[in-house]
Amino acid sequence: MAARAGGDLPGSDDPALADFPAQDPHSRRWCFADQLGPHFLDAPGQPVLLVEARSVFRRRRFHRQKAHLLLSALRHRAAELGEQATFLKTETYTEALDQVHERLSVCAPTTWPARDLVLRRPDVTVLEARGFVTRQADFRRWAAGRSRQRLLMDDFYRVARRVHDVLMDGAQPVGGTWNLDHQNREPAPADGRVGVPPPWLPVEDEIDEQVRADLDRWVADGDVAFVGDDGPRLFPVTHAETEERLEDFLTHRLRAFGPHEDAMLAGDPWLAHSMLSASLNLGLVDPSDVVTRADQAYRDSVAAGDPLPLNSVEGFVRQVMGWRDWIWHLYWQLGRDYRHGNALAAHEEVPPWLAELEAEAVGANCLSSVLADVRARGWVHHIPRLMVLGNYALQRGIEPLAMTDWFHRVFVDGYDWVMVANVVGMSQHADGGVLATKPYAAGGAYIDRMSDYCGGCRYDPRKRLGEDACPYTAGYWAFLERNRERLADNRRMRQPLAGLGRLEDLEAVVEQERDRGTDPR
Ligand code: SF4
Repeated sequence: MAARAGGDLPGSDDPALADFPAQDPHSRRWCFADQLGPHFLDAPGQPVLLVEARSVFRRRRFHRQKAHLLLSALRHRAAELGEQATFLKTETYTEALDQVHERLSVCAPTTWPARDLVLRRPDVTVLEARGFVTRQADFRRWAAGRSRQRLLMDDFYRVARRVHDVLMDGAQPVGGTWNLDHQNREPAPADGRVGVPPPWLPVEDEIDEQVRADLDRWVADGDVAFVGDDGPRLFPVTHAETEERLEDFLTHRLRAFGPHEDAMLAGDPWLAHSMLSASLNLGLVDPSDVVTRADQAYRDSVAAGDPLPLNSVEGFVRQVMGWRDWIWHLYWQLGRDYRHGNALAAHEEVPPWLAELEAEAVGANCLSSVLADVRARGWVHHIPRLMVLGNYALQRGIEPLAMTDWFHRVFVDGYDWVMVANVVGMSQHADGGVLATKPYAAGGAYIDRMSDYCGGCRYDPRKRLGEDACPYTAGYWAFLERNRERLADNRRMRQPLAGLGRLEDLEAVVEQERDRGTDPR
């Protein structure tokens, strides 16, 4: 069924990319900790295997709230299923599988190593992946014959909208336009408010209490170490809780989502975002259901004579079935080695203040505020990730793979499949332009326009030289100068590179930023 990938893409001869069968209802379903929703079973009563493998937490230093979320979600699913599930707490997955003596099936896991693990087991039937709107085989067919640079999100998104009939009027997009992103770049509201009620938040229960006690004990025993603050659980851990958050978003927040989607406010980390990414990536809800519900909410609002803004609905749908699915497919399509790209020769280590989320060590108000938000919640929306954290790492030449690992560990919704293409490609331009046609480097003017951070900052976003030179503005020019030759052939960089030649103080800026290095004070 699957066509072989064309151009310079890897073919489907890698066993991890095989065309797996769709269902196996007569086996026990092994569900990984990111496959926890009902859509990972072939029938509601199918027997289930769940494994809590402690070694996962020993291998990496995760954000404390991410560890809590993962364990809580897994244990809630085990409690929900009761005797239907065999729930094993072991050191490794292999140790758990050795205790199971019946036929297992598993939906293709979400990382290369996990797929290799399940494919090595003759007692496990691997099924096609779930948890995304579009199928891997369909993406491969779409990608066949296209070069890496032609796997464009917008093209893929249009096909997906058509095939799955989301926000469509027959063969045409609702409203006549596929992508309304240009309406979704409003700056931060002057009064610091987007005018939506606070998001629905879950209430912790005795399972959370037990998770917290276990994590405290593991840390006290020196068994594992975390980064970031503990705090009340902010994200759903069950399908039912995810339904609450989704319904709340569709009813109260979706209307305001679009225009300020890219804005940043020091006092409001959520704005009108859905905060569903952690739930989607835990597999608690089927994304096809999420986009169908958004589509229906739009149609209902039109019928009721009070239409939801189409740019808000389309922007949300594009996040879920456009961007999220596209990043998922690229993780596989770009191959096992894609993660090692380092086209801009960035070799700085992740500095200790960033590794430890030490917001107080940072003088730049935007970076300090975002870092404090990450430490407090393990979540900020996509623009602080891309334009504050990622932009800083890009300008300062921090090693892309190390940044990928950092984003994976400290964000509650971070997984390998999410972060590789997002960080290596989108944020750090380490793939030389496969995902993004130009680097996402920007000076302080962008942050000043899109946020309220600069007013309270010791630096001046307009200054590139001197005591109050903004590290983003100065860093931008130093980045361009450092990569002048590497970016010379990029048509979209011609104008910014030409700007370098007009800077009389360029040498002094470069020297100043060389001295500053990755020190943000
Ligand atoms: Fe960030 Fe520069 Fe604005 Fe300060 S002046 S908040 S460092 S962009």
